[in-house]
Amino acid sequence: MQLKIDRESRVPIYLQLKNQLRSLIYSGELSAGSQLPPERKLADSLGLNRTTVLTAYRELKADGLVDSHVGKGTVVLPVLSEVSDRYDGYEVPSFRQFFSQTAERANEPLLRDLLQMANRKDIISFSAGISSMDNDPVEALMGLEKELLEQPEHFALKHTPTEGLPSLRQNIAKLMRERGTNVSPDEVLVLSGSQQGIALSAEVFIDPGDVVLVEEPSFFSALQIFNAAGARVVGVPVDENGMKVDVLEQLLKRHRPKLIYTMPTFQNPSGITMSLERRRRLLELAYQEKVLILEDDPYGEIRFEGPRLPSLLELDAYGYVIYLSTFSKILFPGIRIGWMVAHKQVIHQFTMQKQLCDLHANSISQWIVDRFLESGSYAEHVEKLRKEYKEKRDIMVEALMNSSIKGLEWTKPLGGFYVWCRLPEGTPHMALLVNAADRGVSYIPGTAFFTGGRGGGYMRLNYTYPDKKDITTGIQRLKAAIEAVSRQPGKATEGLTDIKPIV
Ligand code: PMP
Repeated sequence: MQLKIDRESRVPIYLQLKNQLRSLIYSGELSAGSQLPPERKLADSLGLNRTTVLTAYRELKADGLVDSHVGKGTVVLPVLSEVSDRYDGYEVPSFRQFFSQTAERANEPLLRDLLQMANRKDIISFSAGISSMDNDPVEALMGLEKELLEQPEHFALKHTPTEGLPSLRQNIAKLMRERGTNVSPDEVLVLSGSQQGIALSAEVFIDPGDVVLVEEPSFFSALQIFNAAGARVVGVPVDENGMKVDVLEQLLKRHRPKLIYTMPTFQNPSGITMSLERRRRLLELAYQEKVLILEDDPYGEIRFEGPRLPSLLELDAYGYVIYLSTFSKILFPGIRIGWMVAHKQVIHQFTMQKQLCDLHANSISQWIVDRFLESGSYAEHVEKLRKEYKEKRDIMVEALMNSSIKGLEWTKPLGGFYVWCRLPEGTPHMALLVNAADRGVSYIPGTAFFTGGRGGGYMRLNYTYPDKKDITTGIQRLKAAIEAVSRQPGKATEGLTDIKPIV
């Protein structure tokens, strides 16, 4: 492959590079499926800055000519024949110039790449963050679906109200009572997954420039959503008792945020649970400073040890808390049903916003979940999950212990889905991600959970999704990857939060 850079030209260097690669792709010299050279290698061979190559690759990606995946590099895509065969003076539009600022801010492929990687058969996935696929309700749900589709007039395929199927709202209110909060069905909004609740919160509450306080580390999709909305996302450090409320108090005064986003129970990614004292203090501060709290609780019921603590919603006396939860972790993520509980005025505004977005959550999924809750097997099912996931957590923690990876520290979570690890000092974290993928194991790098590219010294491991028999093999592969990259000279990682992993 011949590439020539003209440093005297008025055409920017990245564009020269992009145009030449584009011609090679259209001419077929670079055929579909072939790999572009790694950015650093190409930069070195042409005497360019790596960012220049990165920008050219990004542009090719935006034009749909290449795609990039963690572990696979940048790969040439098939050229659409109707575009390449015809030449009449026109060109495929340069779509990027049409995209909104929100779309530009949403350009973060990590999540999509990781979801793809979770589906690859050759990879043991510690990255997925989803429930295991081999527990009983698959069969129960299959039966329900058949029964629903056989109903007269196919009512399960019709529209449902934006707020949600009335009987499901009632069943969720009942479930919330079992979780300790007295809720009426009209304080419940059924969502297409709880992530939609975060996205709608950004639309309902955030104007560009508004401040949102988040835990540091925090759930990466929430960070992406608030960033895409143009919010200024400010982190509040977390220690073993959850969000540091003394730091929060100062940040509230300094930034006057609109919203505090928190996962008080079995936080994603750290697994940490906020103490009762801090929960109370957090609410007091919210009342004093008049700031709303978005409480995200997907994992609260997956508790292996320790006492149940009341949710912020349960402790809230004035309606400052907007509560989110989901069936993704209890049933299956593809079912896409979550819910929100909030003051009726908030529910009304969110309903208006949701109507613009998708009219209502998928009807058949709502009916399936409703029938599942009606069947009375929910409590028994959750109990089974707790047992199974505790076993998987123990296998992972034991495998980490037995692996004796020098300098690696990890948490032993009391519930939830994740083990949070601190990498050995100085591990080159990007190289590790690629090396691990090459060896057939994936995880989520710490940088996904922090703002500003920090957090490279950490990684999140999920134990609920992989098969029990694969967990130990996955940890061995990870060990081999850590040892391999540690032998190479690399960039040091930084130590960032106050979380002290409990070994
Ligand atoms: N919040 C948190 C903290 C999560 O971990 C997840 C899923 N990983 C979600 C929300 C989104 O869940 P859902 O599938 O219901 O959209």
